[in-house]
Amino acid sequence: MPVQSNPNKCISCGGCVSVCPANALELRGSDIVVDTERCIDCETCMKFCPVNALRKKQQEKGLIYPMENEE
Ligand code: SF4
Ligand code: SF4
Repeated sequence: MPVQSNPNKCISCGGCVSVCPANALELRGSDIVVDTERCIDCETCMKFCPVNALRKKQQEKGLIYPMENEE
């Protein structure tokens, strides 16, 4: 199941970018940009994130989504 990031929580540490085995994440300025074609849905980034800014999202399979302000 896909994942998305929460800009209100993300501290732009870049850690998720480093741990992603598929190189699907990129820190561009203070935003996490997701390459949805590369993401293999492994959830490594979710488990790593120190502030729990990444979470699953009910949408198409295999995607982690960039910043969406939901709060
Ligand atoms: S879920 Fe996707 S973006 Fe997150 S670490 Fe795995 S491949 Fe990378
Ligand atoms: S690991 Fe979490 S806090 Fe760090 S850049 Fe990624 S989403 Fe943001």
